[in-house]
Amino acid sequence: MDWFAKLDEAVSEYLPDLKVVCEEPMSRHTSFRIGGAARRMAFPERGEQLVLLHSFALECGARPLVVGNGTNLLVSDGGVDRLVIETSGMNRLERGAEPDSVVAEAGVTLARLADFACRAGLAGLEFAHGIPGTVGGGICMNAGAYDGEMKQVVSGATVLFPEEGVRFLSGEEMAFAYRRSLLTDRPDAVVLSAVFRLKPGREETIRDRMRELMQRRKTSQPLEWPSAGSTFKRPAGYFAGTLIDQCGLKGLTVGGAQVSEKHAGFIINRGGATCADVTALIGEVQARVLERTGVRLEPEVKIIRD
Ligand SMILES: Cc1cc2nc3c(=O)[nH]c(=O)nc-3n(C[C@H](O)[C@H](O)[C@H](O)COP(=O)(O)OP(=O)(O)OC[C@H]3O[C@@H](n4cnc5c(N)ncnc54)[C@H](O)[C@@H]3O)c2cc1C
Repeated sequence: MDWFAKLDEAVSEYLPDLKVVCEEPMSRHTSFRIGGAARRMAFPERGEQLVLLHSFALECGARPLVVGNGTNLLVSDGGVDRLVIETSGMNRLERGAEPDSVVAEAGVTLARLADFACRAGLAGLEFAHGIPGTVGGGICMNAGAYDGEMKQVVSGATVLFPEEGVRFLSGEEMAFAYRRSLLTDRPDAVVLSAVFRLKPGREETIRDRMRELMQRRKTSQPLEWPSAGSTFKRPAGYFAGTLIDQCGLKGLTVGGAQVSEKHAGFIINRGGATCADVTALIGEVQARVLERTGVRLEPEVKIIRD
């Protein structure tokens, strides 16, 4: 019996309220607008649903992949023979028990989280307001911008480990580093929710800073085109975009994928780009930058090949 037939049976028996769709194009769930079909895609609305689904998926051999907003993903054109679990329905957000804290489920967007904190007069998440991901994706990637990163504000997270079950880990235990965390090393673990420890601030000051940072993004980034943000990690001592620009690669195109003319650190989908176009362009940029500068660029974008 195929894994998805087993999973369908388990879901209809034990999780009848859970939304699960078949052969769902991942291009609808990624900011790149690229990616073939997920064999099954599920949309849990509560942590308990996700935990149960995840255990069924492991038993069935469904290789579950948990995604947030898909803003750091490049999914293969042939699709993924897996169960993709999308967390947007897990979106509870409230003040925490600790002073100046906020608790957010994995699917809360960073924009909503920052806005909630701002209205509560809590500062610290201004940097995250313009990052288009979710709490789960942001924690996994230790998302950051303008001198802020998740590491500075996450006091702890509730994480599902397939073998050990659900545990609460402190910020230190999350092992945050530049665009890394415990989750990048343990892709089988899932963030269910997180606690953010913030500082009291004036709502207007926080709002002004968020507006200023958003304006800087709009001026410097090609937000008008589909992309997954910065394609490459920042190599030690350099900026990827500057290196790519210095190598004369702005506008370099493979199929529908192009190195943005506005910001060389972004590969954009100019229309009809495939995963193969983007990966070929990534390879071309890496090869030319290495040849000209000796610097090896490493993708920041998560490439999901099957
Ligand atoms: C226009 C644009 C601008 C961007 N600017 C920035 C920026 O300034 N700084 C920055 O750091 N990033 C930036 N990004 C990249 C992206 O928004 C971040 O990496 C973000 O944190 C990804 O969150 P997501 O919810 O979209 O995760 P996804 O892309 O869905 O997933 C990313 C990774 O996280 C994992 N994941 C998702 N949810 C969970 C979960 N609940 N538990 C465990 N693992 C999970 C996925 O499996 C995957 O490995 C930008 C992207 C775009 C398109």
